[in-house]
Amino acid sequence: MEDDDVEENIEEQNEELNEEKKEDIAADFEYKDIKDLPGVGSTIASKIKSAGYQDIISLATANPMVLVEACGIGEPTAKKIVAEARDASGMNFMSGLEFEDKRKSVQRISTGSEAFNILLGGGVETQAITECYGEYGSGKSQMAFQLAVDVQLPVEKGGLDGHAIWIDTEGTFRPSRIEQLAASKGLDPKQALQNIKIGRAYSSDHQVLLVNKVPELVNADPKIKLIVVDSMMALFRAEYVGRGTLADRQQKVNVVLHTLQRLADRFNIAVYITNQVMARPDVMFGDPTAAVGGHIIGHVATYRIYLRKGKKGSRVAKLVDSPSLPEGEASFEITSNGIADLDEEKKK
Ligand code: ATP
Ligand code: MG
Repeated sequence: MEDDDVEENIEEQNEELNEEKKEDIAADFEYKDIKDLPGVGSTIASKIKSAGYQDIISLATANPMVLVEACGIGEPTAKKIVAEARDASGMNFMSGLEFEDKRKSVQRISTGSEAFNILLGGGVETQAITECYGEYGSGKSQMAFQLAVDVQLPVEKGGLDGHAIWIDTEGTFRPSRIEQLAASKGLDPKQALQNIKIGRAYSSDHQVLLVNKVPELVNADPKIKLIVVDSMMALFRAEYVGRGTLADRQQKVNVVLHTLQRLADRFNIAVYITNQVMARPDVMFGDPTAAVGGHIIGHVATYRIYLRKGKKGSRVAKLVDSPSLPEGEASFEITSNGIADLDEEKKK
């Protein structure tokens, strides 16, 4: 296919998706409240909500045993409630063919480095959560800046002609960096900033609220193609220190991740989240670092990338977990113009 055809094709798909979006949003995200489910009244609903399940989608993915404990209801009742939530949220099976069709609409955002793109099978995918974890200064946020700009590029330049949402939990979003990257890609810097909606989260509860607001934003702006959460765990880690509250924390993180995954799936959006690593004093061999929130995110994120500093100021990305791509590594660098392939000199 010629480039023009590809573009036209994708535009058509986008138009179709956008049409679908308007209907979907009503069907999926604006249905009734938890309290309207059969067998749930306002009392049980408020207990379910305080257990961290704010809406029917998140309830649909809940473990019934958690509800038994949190709401003081019997196991059969809990199972019935979760099943009702599943029905109401339209979490149905689809045929392999339908699934293949849906996969065909997957699009990719360029990372700015060809080597990195190849590692990811072409770039950061829509309909998936991509998690980048690594130590401070490894480039997790820089990658987010790059994606938030690159998503705005036309398709033939590695973008999706789209807009971005950015949830900032650490106060590290820098408009000037966006402007700098946009200018170097030939975009209007102010327009590029205009195309990114930023929400600053001050607490983990606030972060949950912001994520729950995203469906509304997507509805208002169907061009949204990227959601960034930088960083996913910082607030949760700071607030939930004692082990006693760990289960509570994981549940909330789970709710956030599942909401993001649903959005990614339904609206063909790429989700990029960052995560710090924590020292693992118990690991004597191998890499003594592990992503915060470890296994909870690991099970949800489709692609996991471990970033580290390499030789001569370069960065190394390692693909740790992916459904169909081989594990591997790619080197790149962070320049004033953004993420780029290493020059020949540095490859040595
Ligand atoms: P943290 O865990 O602290 O949030 P991070 O992984 O998000 O860390 P980044 O902020 O993405 O780290 O990376 C910071 C690094 O990016 C800097 O140390 C520097 O090497 C590089 N960097 C940032 N801005 C520029 C620039 N304008 N030109 C060149 N390199 C830059
Ligand atoms: Mg950062």
